[in-house]
Amino acid sequence: MENQLRLQIDEGDWIRPAWERALQRAERRLGREAIQTWLRDAHPVSFKEGVLVIAAPNGTARDWIEKKYGRALAEVFGEEQPAAQPVAVRVVVDAQAKPRRDRPRRPEPESEPPPRRIPASGLFAPIPLNDKYTFENFVVGHSNRFAHAAAMAVSERPGRHYNPLFIYGGVGLGKTHLLQAIGHRLLEANPRARVAYISGEMFTAHFITSLRESREEEFRRAYRSVEIWLVDDIQFIADKTSTKQEFFHTFNELYLTNRQVVLAADRPPKELRLMEDRLRSRLEAGLMAEIGPPDLETRVAILERRARAERVEVPTDVLLHLAAAIESNVRVLEATLIRLLALASLSRAPVDVALAERALQAFRVTAARGPLTAEEVRRAVCEHFSVSESDLLSDRRDKRTSRARQVAMYLLRAHSQCSLVEIGASLGGKSHSTVLYGCQALEKAMRDDPALAAEVRRLGARLLEGPAHS
Ligand code: ADP
Ligand code: MG
Repeated sequence: MENQLRLQIDEGDWIRPAWERALQRAERRLGREAIQTWLRDAHPVSFKEGVLVIAAPNGTARDWIEKKYGRALAEVFGEEQPAAQPVAVRVVVDAQAKPRRDRPRRPEPESEPPPRRIPASGLFAPIPLNDKYTFENFVVGHSNRFAHAAAMAVSERPGRHYNPLFIYGGVGLGKTHLLQAIGHRLLEANPRARVAYISGEMFTAHFITSLRESREEEFRRAYRSVEIWLVDDIQFIADKTSTKQEFFHTFNELYLTNRQVVLAADRPPKELRLMEDRLRSRLEAGLMAEIGPPDLETRVAILERRARAERVEVPTDVLLHLAAAIESNVRVLEATLIRLLALASLSRAPVDVALAERALQAFRVTAARGPLTAEEVRRAVCEHFSVSESDLLSDRRDKRTSRARQVAMYLLRAHSQCSLVEIGASLGGKSHSTVLYGCQALEKAMRDDPALAAEVRRLGARLLEGPAHS
């Protein structure tokens, strides 16, 4: 069954990219939640005589997709396929498309999360923390001083003074970093503390899974046994009454038993559509801390620290040049530095202001040309590592294929606008957490092996340069 399905995919290799583009467009129409919940574990099997066959992991998903999304999928896919004609959609059940947890688990040495960090609770396990997101690695400046102090206070005396703590601010300003830093600090103090870091997106997915599979009990037990609850990006909690209510109940139960709750969002509580009034007033009664864009000094300090972490000397005037050009997003700021280092290693040129200007220019071009697509990255990675696309998308775990897959995950995370869930979908239906472990495993390998780090950076830089460079 598996071979047969894969063969068909190989035959029409435009199907998968077309399917992905169709999903992207469907997302605008159907909403993110629908795609994440119902379609991320589905994949296209074949397209013959105007009929698109999609495989879903189980009967419920099949029925739901067919009934609720069949028509929309047929339309968007119809516009993506070569003949640009309307299609019919048929959904079948494919046991292979089942989420990983239902399969016997084989060890996956390079991409397992470190075992000690977080008490796993099976299906509803939280997200492992990223080793980089510690207080030690966080640069304090005017724009984040208050949020940082609040996070420190919470990690010293959880559940006491500042409960709940609500951190909000724009993209790439350090919210996730601070949330995870609290988690790290608490686990350092007590490795057995039940710290759970989770995103709003994942809460929604877990809750819906629990309903779909009649595992509400297990869901509640997992969520309510938590001692420190770190919930990121709560703006992504689906705008659906039952999920909002469940979130409120979970929050309440933890809060009323003095567990520490820390939440992060891209806007203040009063602007969150998802809020129940009761929840909003609870949040506003706790501590709210806004993170703003860092000032120039802080940006330079962040770059300095990052350069040190990469073990390269970068002259201060170069750091200043980058920091002056990119004002509002630390992630982009860091990406530009990494890009500069890639250019330096690619062209064996010194790291100076002229090269920084090139990195910035390329960045501006990139901004204009748009982010990398999953298709481009897959193609480049397959070529670079000499693996076939079907192996990349499969579950093969040999060293070369795993490495190639990790690099694809990493590049997509760095240079596309895909969420973890979307990256997983574009790599053969991997789960959100598999992508996360993959990226973390590669980052660690890159820290240990500078040659690998340079190789990955060069590959990324070449992709971003686009056709001009290849
Ligand atoms: P957000 O969750 O607010 O979108 P993140 O916490 O993911 O932002 O931060 C984006 C990137 O910038 C991360 O790599 C993070 O480590 C880094 N970063 C943000 N703020 C700081 C800071 N003050 N010091 C060091 N690194 C930072
Ligand atoms: Mg974040």
